[in-house]
Amino acid sequence: MKRGISACLAGAIWLSGCVAPGTASLDRAVEPLAVADARCSDGSVAIDTAFDAGALALCSVGDDGRISITLSPEDAPPINCSAWYSFRVHSNAPRVVGIDLNYTACGHRYEPKVSYDGVEWTYLDPSMVEVTEIDGTRMARLSVRTDGRPLFVSAQEIIGPATYDAWLDGLEETGMVERETLGHSAEGRAIEIMYLGNPAAREQVVLVGRQHPPEVTGALAMFPFVETLLEDTELARRFRERFRVSAVPLLNPDGVVKGHWRHNTGGVDLNRDWGPFTQPETQLMRDVLVAIDHDPDKRLRLLLDFHSTGRDIFYTIPDELPTDPPLFTRDWLARYQDRMSGYEVTRDARHEAGRPISKAHAFDTYGVPAVTFELGDETDRTLIRRIGREAAIAMMEELLATERP
Ligand SMILES: [Zn+2]
Repeated sequence: MKRGISACLAGAIWLSGCVAPGTASLDRAVEPLAVADARCSDGSVAIDTAFDAGALALCSVGDDGRISITLSPEDAPPINCSAWYSFRVHSNAPRVVGIDLNYTACGHRYEPKVSYDGVEWTYLDPSMVEVTEIDGTRMARLSVRTDGRPLFVSAQEIIGPATYDAWLDGLEETGMVERETLGHSAEGRAIEIMYLGNPAAREQVVLVGRQHPPEVTGALAMFPFVETLLEDTELARRFRERFRVSAVPLLNPDGVVKGHWRHNTGGVDLNRDWGPFTQPETQLMRDVLVAIDHDPDKRLRLLLDFHSTGRDIFYTIPDELPTDPPLFTRDWLARYQDRMSGYEVTRDARHEAGRPISKAHAFDTYGVPAVTFELGDETDRTLIRRIGREAAIAMMEELLATERP
């Protein structure tokens, strides 16, 4: 059965016009014999990646019209096996295009999603996906039906800088959010920060997202999470009066635009750089935290870092290690579980001092609760919205229940 998903849903509260991925060539007339920037073509079918997050290593069209795509990580293994792919299929007529996804490392992970406009996505029917193992590596053979219009085929919905921009624009229009450019990535892309809540608040919450480019479901949870903090409810109003939130939703825009599996353009896993801070992107986050720490009128209370993995899970600091506020994570997740009937909240509490990830760094350096908020790669998108919203409500309730520092 086809499951409907929509990136548009993610920002639906204020994002009235959902946007297609940034692209130089989306609107041009499509003549498959002359697809600009085609990565491979045989005159009747062509593949391009000339859009944000478009990525493949090699592409060829066989004599039988079958397309062979080779997928490789941006840097040599070992690398986290988030085997991203995203490309666009052009055909001069309605047809079923056979596409082989061949992986040089890691193997097939993400269930293919398709979209004509880059906004509304559906899963490619599982009956059109055949996964085989070759020498222990999962490869995929796809049968992709197109109606003649260019069709995106992607590991996940494409949520690139254009989508974040539109989302932030929508939030700004509420008048409850301030937005500015925090700094720039290695390739000069803007890294935006948004603030909500009381500018004079002592208590600070920091949110960060998309250190890892393929981790789109983390973004799909972060959008409703932030939107819930802006709701016109008594809870959200009380929260915004007492707290200030700084959120950096897209920390690795270069990696996202280039369709990286894991790294920034410096060849670094950003969530292994919180400590060394060798990269421009992570240095920006360090500076956000240091600025709060150095301000005698401010106190960091919580850091949340949105990611994706094989399932929904919270990676947390163990309760045995004291945080300030005390036992926040335990109590937050208990409240959250109470709100999530029919759903089991999963927590994995561990800490390795000095490990250069956001969670360990925030705890080691500032003694605050810090959580890696992971969403499953294929978690139902409507459920992800519920997760983002209920987790935000539970967080607001629990933070408001803490003693003021
Ligand atoms: Zn991650």
